[in-house]
Formats: sequence, C-alpha cells, structure tokens
Amino acid sequence: ICMIKATNVKKVYGGGKDFAETLAINNLTIELKQGEFTAIMGPSGSGKSSLLNILSGFDQPTSGEVVIQGQNIHTMTGDELALFRRSHIGYIFQEFNLLDSLTIQENVMLPMILNKETTAHMNKKALGLMELLGISIIKNKYPYQVSGGQQQRTAVCRALINDTSVIFADEPTGNLDSKASKIVLECLRKTNETYGTTILLVTHDPFAASYSEKVLFLKDGSIRTQLYKKGTQEQF
Ligand code: ADP
Ligand code: ADP
Repeated sequence: ICMIKATNVKKVYGGGKDFAETLAINNLTIELKQGEFTAIMGPSGSGKSSLLNILSGFDQPTSGEVVIQGQNIHTMTGDELALFRRSHIGYIFQEFNLLDSLTIQENVMLPMILNKETTAHMNKKALGLMELLGISIIKNKYPYQVSGGQQQRTAVCRALINDTSVIFADEPTGNLDSKASKIVLECLRKTNETYGTTILLVTHDPFAASYSEKVLFLKDGSIRTQLYKKGTQEQF
C-alpha cells in the first residue's frame, strides 16, 4: 500500500527582483510504501530539508503534488492540514523545537493535549515512552536544564506520542553520542516493526542509515541512487 507519493515535485526559492533563483528540488518523484523505513542521504545543500518540509506539509512545492494516505496535502486549507498533520504525521526536528516554558513531560504530551486526550491517558503514554528512551528521570525539568541529547530524545518522544502512521526525522541523531543514537534508532525501528509506521529519516550518519531498508541519495535536488538493504546491516 502506498503511504506517500510525491509526483514531479519542484521547489524554487527566491527569484524576486534582484534575487537569484535556487532550484532546490528538481522534478522529483518518489513513492514510500506503508511500513517502509527509508533514509535520505546527500551532501549539504542537496535538498534534503526542502524535500522533508514539502513532504510533511510545512512548505508548498513550486509545482508537483504530494499525496499522503490518498489525500493531497497541498490542496487542503490551513486548518485541514493542521488537523491532518496532528493525526497522521510525527516530525522530529533537527533543532528540537521544544518549548522552554513547558517541562520535558509537558513537551512530550503537547501533541496529545492538542488532540484533547484525557490526562490519565496522556501521562501513562508519555511516561512509557520517556522510560523507553531513558529520559523519565528528567520529566519535571525544563528543556534548558537538560543536555542536547536529552532534548533530542524528548523531541523523539513527542513525535511518537500520537501513534501517527508516518514519522519524518531530520537528523535525529545529529547531536547524539553513539549510545544515545542507538537508543533513538532502536526506538524508531521498534515503532516501525510494531506499528508498521512509515519512517523517512534524513541523515549524514551511515550508522543511522543502516537502520533503514532503503537509502535514497539526493544530489542537486534529484535522487541519484537507491540502495536496498539485503540481510544484515553491513550489506548495503
Ligand atoms: P540540505 O538539507 O540537503 O542541506 P536544503 O534543502 O536545505 O538542502 O537546501 C537546498 C538548496 O536550497 C540549497 O542551495 C539552499 O541554499 C537552498 N535553500 C534552502 N532553503 C532556502 C530558503 N529558505 N531560501 C532560499 N534558498 C534556500
Ligand atoms: P547525553 O548523553 O544526553 O548526550 P551529555 O553527555 O551531553 O548527555 O551530558 C551528560 C549529563 O550532563 C546529562 O545527564 C545532563 O544532565 C548534563 N548536562 C549536559 N549538558 C547540560 C546543559 N547544557 N545544561 C545542564 N545540564 C547538562
């Protein structure tokens, strides 16, 4: 079953008077199946963040369309898209995007609060996930009181809490030591295997990419190579 289909997506930045145009995504077509764990690699400036932003509905493509679970996300109204994103898409930001006025646990529960869940259910779910990622000990601290690695794991919990069918992750291990990276990647793998969650991971880290079953290499806004994993982690 197809989960995400992007067709002839193009993204051009700039181009106003006196500004040069940048072609960030160049007529890109991809299809991600339900339950697929895919990584995107590529040099800086190759269009990875632009692609993730367009696929997740954060940004509009200049042309082309993106369909997620049968719905064209770029023809929705702002309210429809916000609701769709909350119930279908989990996003792990490179810069965490945690709210400093909320505790770690409140940050984790935020997407559930917006979905009007009961407090008991939210607490149970949040504590379970924080336990799994080894951050329950900091649940009452604020983001500025914990390490970068702990903030990253908080962002991972927040992305997973609504059991969405799709997870987008932008360099989720970029700020982590190898031990914390492994915890995050094992958690993504477990989510993928247990719930059949479709995962798209942008990474520079070959170790992180080795958790995926398919790696797309992006260059100058186009996919240049696709590698499929066979058997063990090493055999790319
Ligand atoms: P990557 O994530 O692979 O580093 P990006 O998607 O960030 O690549 O960038 C792709 C290209 O688009 C680069 O040339 C970058 O400079 C340009 N770009 C990205 N965002 C913007 C923006 N908001 N305005 C103008 N150019 C941008
Ligand atoms: P992690 O294993 O999450 O990457 P670090 O190795 O960066 O954590 O930090 C180890 C410990 O030091 C953490 O448990 C955290 O409590 C503390 N720590 C690190 N950076 C900060 C910071 N900027 N502010 C407060 N505490 C910090």
